[in-house]
Amino acid sequence: MITEGNGIEVHGPARIILDGKREEGINVISHAHKDHLGRVNKAIATRETAVLAGLEGYKDHLVLDDLKIRLVNAGHILGSSQVEILNGHHIAYTGDIRLRDSILFEAGEILNPDILIIESTFGLPKFRFPDPLDIYEQIERWTRTNLNAGRHVVIGGYALGKSQELTKLANEIGETPIVTREIWENNERYSQLGEDIGGYILAGTEEAMETARDPSVFLVPMNLAGWKAKEALQLSYGRPTVSGVATGWATVFTFKSKGVDRAFPLSDHADFYDLVRYAKESGAKQIYTVHGYSNELAMHLRKLGLNARSLQQK
Ligand SMILES: [Zn+2]
Repeated sequence: MITEGNGIEVHGPARIILDGKREEGINVISHAHKDHLGRVNKAIATRETAVLAGLEGYKDHLVLDDLKIRLVNAGHILGSSQVEILNGHHIAYTGDIRLRDSILFEAGEILNPDILIIESTFGLPKFRFPDPLDIYEQIERWTRTNLNAGRHVVIGGYALGKSQELTKLANEIGETPIVTREIWENNERYSQLGEDIGGYILAGTEEAMETARDPSVFLVPMNLAGWKAKEALQLSYGRPTVSGVATGWATVFTFKSKGVDRAFPLSDHADFYDLVRYAKESGAKQIYTVHGYSNELAMHLRKLGLNARSLQQK
């Protein structure tokens, strides 16, 4: 049986807690985003997740007589994984998943369990993400045009995951981005873990001041994108500045009220159509949806004849 409580709980001979907030039973952590972390210090997790999340101890799989747990690429952020469980049943939990190749990672793999627990962050039909390669091109063109016109370019994105993807993208177009401390620390961890994201400069250092004499690319967390970053940079450097954001929510929000000039729908999640594709192709006999629009996605899957329900359903 599967319930939601301390994370997602898989009941059976052994109690398995997926992305739980407390240490209990056998903990498994899918990836290092804060909404999936609690006070868990030892867990089954990838090495990358253990480093990014600061876990004290980790194992990347478990093999017992009657229980096997293995981690499979989720394509979401560095170290992100799906969890496959064999405990008499064949269960798979996607965690947060991306089903398209990105500039950093291969697409997550579609598993074929009997019981599928699938995320539903973007579980509404209005969330249709363009091909990431097209969005990379749009960001490149917009950045290049503004730099050539003598403007600084600021791009906001989540500090862990998206900002490293943007760091890599900036490097690919020949720019070394200036990044805030939080992003710099995550970039350092990615680099130390062997992920090649290119160069980057910590904001506020002499190197950053020197670089920013010319039109430059700045990466900031989402909450600083728009007016906040534009005003600060215009004040510091007396140079016109534009701001973009890169997030899946750009499919429905423009972020104009925050002073954002361009919103790029670049997401490290699956969109609605990829979630439906996963559910169908998995062949799972029972599907549970979790996070975000779980009721809506489950309802849609039922209309397609799949046996789905939300774990959050009351
Ligand atoms: Zn995540």
